[in-house]
Amino acid sequence: MEIIRKWYCSCRGKPAELTSEDPLEEEQGEPICSRCGASPSSDPKKTLSFKDFSGDEEL
Ligand SMILES: [Zn+2]
Repeated sequence: MEIIRKWYCSCRGKPAELTSEDPLEEEQGEPICSRCGASPSSDPKKTLSFKDFSGDEEL
C-alpha cells in the first residue's frame, strides 16, 4: 500500500501540517513551510518533523 509522508513545521510553537497550500520545492518535491521557509533538506532550526501514513493509519 502506498505510504504517504506528512510534514509538519513547529515554527509557530506547535507542529502544523504543511499542506498543498504551502510551496513545493520542485527538484526534490519537498514541501516548504510558507511561514519560515524551512524544507526537509534545509531545516536549520530543526522545526520540521514528519509522520508516515498508510491510508488513514499512522505507521
Ligand atoms: Zn515553519
